This record gives sequence, structure tokens and C-alpha cells, in this order.
Amino acid sequence: MLKEPSFVRDVPLQFSEPLKKISDGIKYIIIHHAQERGWDIYKTHHFHQAVRKWSGIGYNFFIEANGEILKGRGYHVGAHAYHYNEVSLGICLTGDFDVDHPTKEQLSSAKKLCHYLMSEFNIPVSDVLGHRELPGTTKTCPGKNFNMDQFREFISKK
Ligand SMILES: [Zn+2]
Repeated sequence: MLKEPSFVRDVPLQFSEPLKKISDGIKYIIIHHAQERGWDIYKTHHFHQAVRKWSGIGYNFFIEANGEILKGRGYHVGAHAYHYNEVSLGICLTGDFDVDHPTKEQLSSAKKLCHYLMSEFNIPVSDVLGHRELPGTTKTCPGKNFNMDQFREFISKK
């Protein structure tokens, strides 16, 4: 049985359609930034719903600037990485890391969440990818200031 991490806080988000549960065939963790300054989970959810016309926030998990880890879609199929939604979980850190840097609190929460998911789904650290590392992606996501090699090295430690 898949178990969602107990340290993730559930927030009241209304999705406009029923979400599909993920299978246990999750192979990747994909890291994103919100690409906007000061967007919290509610603003991101609203944008994905009202502008993108998705059923709601596309990310599985969302990390606020203070490091709080919130549940977006959780263990339901996301809308965050073209061709990869069925086989990955998307973690979004709020902020625009083309301009700013993730906070220490965000990085340590991202590490904690990655550790949990890597062990739950048997994902090697090499398959924790930045959105821009997916083939065919032209975005800078999770931002020019977010070094994925450094991040993988950071989370490969205890
Ligand atoms: Zn992204």
C-alpha cells in the first residue's frame, strides 16, 4: 500500500474533476519552481484552474518559502510534465529561481520529501530530475539559479 508522507499538510483545494490515483509505476521525481514571486499554493491552484483550465493545481506537492510542505494532488496523477505525468511526481517550490534562490528551508524540506518518495517508490537519486532536464523541454524550470547536480548531491546525503 502506498502511504502518503505524514509530514505533508493537507490544504482545502477543490478540484473541478475527479483525480486519477497514481499507480505504483512512479519512476521519477520532477522538481519545479512556481516561476512567480510570492505565489502560494492557493494562487497556483487558482491559476492552473482558471487560466490553464486544468482540474486544479498540477503539482503533487508544493513547498512554501518557509519550508512548509503542502499537498497538491498528492498521490493522484499530476499535470506538470508533458509525457511524464503518469510516471512521475512533481514537487514545486514557490519562487522564481531565474531571479531568486530557493530558501534553506525549502531545500531542506525538498530533501526530506525526496527521501521519503525515493524510498517509497524505489527511485534512485539519478531519477530526481529538474523539469528542464526532460527531453523536449525549453523552460529553465526549476530556474537558472537551481543547480540540479548540486541538489542531487545534497539529497544523496542523509
Ligand atoms: Zn516546471
